[in-house]
Amino acid sequence: MNNESAADPRRAEKYDLHCHSTASDGALSPSQLVERAAMQGVTALSLTDHDTVNGLTEASVAAAKADIRLIPGIEISTTWENKCFHIVGLNIDPDNPALNAGIKELQTIRSSRARRIAEKLAAKKVSGAYEAIVENAGSNMITRFHFADFLLQQKIVTTHQQAFDKYLAKGKPAYVSTSWATMNDAVDWIKQSGGVAVLAHPLRYKLSGSWLKRTLSAFKEAGGVGIEVITGQSSRDDIIRSAHLARRFDLYASVGSDFHTPSNQWLELGRFPDLPNHCQPIWTLL
Ligand code: AMP
Ligand code: MN
Ligand code: MN
Ligand code: MN
Repeated sequence: MNNESAADPRRAEKYDLHCHSTASDGALSPSQLVERAAMQGVTALSLTDHDTVNGLTEASVAAAKADIRLIPGIEISTTWENKCFHIVGLNIDPDNPALNAGIKELQTIRSSRARRIAEKLAAKKVSGAYEAIVENAGSNMITRFHFADFLLQQKIVTTHQQAFDKYLAKGKPAYVSTSWATMNDAVDWIKQSGGVAVLAHPLRYKLSGSWLKRTLSAFKEAGGVGIEVITGQSSRDDIIRSAHLARRFDLYASVGSDFHTPSNQWLELGRFPDLPNHCQPIWTLL
């Protein structure tokens, strides 16, 4: 018999501190996501939708029912030195005014970017993308993933990857260069709302070693305290490399799947190896 509950300190926790719901570009509703996490044995989950906290109320109701801990989170899009970086905020207060003012700015940026992407697609004879996406997305955050979905539905491409490779990725015809929040602002909003700032998937930016080090210095300088050492797609070498960076820059280590959809059979909520021994787990701060 298992008498352990979410509040039981004896329970061995299984964390997943990065995933997406329909509030941004995930396929599952916040409740479906929480239920799936519970099925996978996750005991502490952070929902971190792109630039929105809209899914958190529903997720926390579902988490109470499923007896798992929900850590309120967000993944904020930032621009530093003309490059885009994602900063995860963990344990944020979704009602914080500074955070919400920041989210509002990002919502405006996202919606005007979406119109421009649609214009660029129209120039390539793909019309109606913006209207179709807004109709489905409602008040949820529109991402490039929604455009990839649209291109797939219209049978203009056969996979999401092809949508990025042919139209949406940097250097492709429908790419729109965007100025997101500054790294300093994003970390400030997270801190002001009581949260901790974590640099998401540090190896996915395809930076040289020296750029990566510059980025981590700037992130620390801005008040960031953690980096993701394990993400859903990390190889063994990636984990060793990221853990090394965490130690070198005195940053806490986070683990997050970056789960978006059950249709990606290679990536599941909460499916990770253990953190390397020398890492300081970020959950000691949560
Ligand atoms: P955005 O923040 O609007 O630029 O959208 C980024 C989202 O699009 C990411 O969170 C991924 O879900 C998805 N994405 C970005 N690049 C790719 C890619 N090359 N292939 C597939 N999905 C991608
Ligand atoms: Mn995404
Ligand atoms: Mn990301
Ligand atoms: Mn993500």
